[in-house]
Amino acid sequence: MTQTPTPPSTATALPLAHLLPHTAALTADGTLAIGGCDVRALAREFGTPLYVFDQATLEAQCRGYRDAFRAEHAETDVLYASKAFLNRPFARLIAAQGLGFDAVSGGEIEVLRAAGVDMRTVYFHGNNKSADELALAVECGIGRIVIDNSGEVALAEAAARAAGVVQPVLLRVSPGVDAHTHEKTTTGILDTKFGVPIATGAAEAAVRAIAEATHLEFRGLHMHLGSPIFELEPYVLGIEVLAAFIADVCRDRLGVAVPECSPGGGFAVAYLGDQEPPALAAYARAICGTFRREADARGFPMPRLTLEPGRSIVGRAGVALYTVGARKEIPGVRTYVAVDGGMADNVRPAMYGARYEAIAAERPLAPAEETVTIAGKYCESGDILVRDAALPRLHAGELLATPAAGAYQLAMASNYNLAYKPAVVLVANGSARLLRRRETAADLMALDVD
Ligand SMILES: *Cc1c(COP(=O)(O)O)cnc(C)c1O
Repeated sequence: MTQTPTPPSTATALPLAHLLPHTAALTADGTLAIGGCDVRALAREFGTPLYVFDQATLEAQCRGYRDAFRAEHAETDVLYASKAFLNRPFARLIAAQGLGFDAVSGGEIEVLRAAGVDMRTVYFHGNNKSADELALAVECGIGRIVIDNSGEVALAEAAARAAGVVQPVLLRVSPGVDAHTHEKTTTGILDTKFGVPIATGAAEAAVRAIAEATHLEFRGLHMHLGSPIFELEPYVLGIEVLAAFIADVCRDRLGVAVPECSPGGGFAVAYLGDQEPPALAAYARAICGTFRREADARGFPMPRLTLEPGRSIVGRAGVALYTVGARKEIPGVRTYVAVDGGMADNVRPAMYGARYEAIAAERPLAPAEETVTIAGKYCESGDILVRDAALPRLHAGELLATPAAGAYQLAMASNYNLAYKPAVVLVANGSARLLRRRETAADLMALDVD
């Protein structure tokens, strides 16, 4: 599809611009445009619910990570955490920016391989990798297996031996640091299913086992504290724990070098108007600075660093577009305004109590007239997208947008109520390209054995 590019209006600032893609602008008649595309035209052509990804924002985030971290430490690799959102054309976009990938399942590995990604740039995570998944990973030449528990050492060794290769691995440790995020998304504390705890001595035993395994090459350590992390302090505390482990345990007790380290992902994006996540440069300074200070103080070489952002690469690039439908007023209680999507395409509010802003996409400058709750269309009372949104009085048929929709929405989408999963378009310079078509009834029935 080609549209006439919409010149960004500079006369009026777009509300909530810091949550929207970098190219978000107003058309001459005051409608939201992304990537030079008027959202009304996108909705007409592709239908709603529609997920719109802005190529310029995506590319800026990829470049931003590389530049911010390499300015602090040249030996830094950036991996995109695929679970935030992935399909083949999207993987190619990310790979073209020079990023590698985290994968957490055989499915993600297969999609990355089918996309033509260099599998040496892929790191394989997961707290319960199957023997089949490990065999697939080794066979396709995956860059690193990130071993997540003590038992996995033997499984990875068996897969590598069967393939006749020596597989480079990292060990994911749990440093015992609370990232102050939702209990369902904190992963670096002692009581988590992820990683081998340092505090109990299990991490030391796992490093020893890897070092002794003939078909595994120990390359270093990994931690991932949770998500989203709006503070720098958890990274600083976690790296201090890693550094003590590198010096006191790996070097002094085991005589094992640690050439690589990953402080994971978890970097925040703003979902609400009053949120302001740290700048990439601030994360980079805190992470690289702490590593360098600790390495110098403890006398070990600065490791190569691997960053694993997911949410913060793709979150802000995505906008979800819905069409407004039913309205239910309960006097003195609440007004519900329902849209044509909901928990089937965005389960985060129902699952984590995640909060979003809502924008009247055809008239973002219209003053708020009432406070309503934006409900989805699925058969659960918990199917609420935005609670207490201050909006102009919406009428049926107009478009509503939720910003910061790129990460962990479609990736967690379901066919609940046999919903058709939405289409995904990539917008740039006034044109839109379909990355994934909307599902059809035939897709819903394609796997039936009838
Ligand atoms: C989920 C995950 C990430 C990415 O987290 P974001 O919050 O999306 O940045 C990185 N590393 C690991 C191991 C993960 O599980």
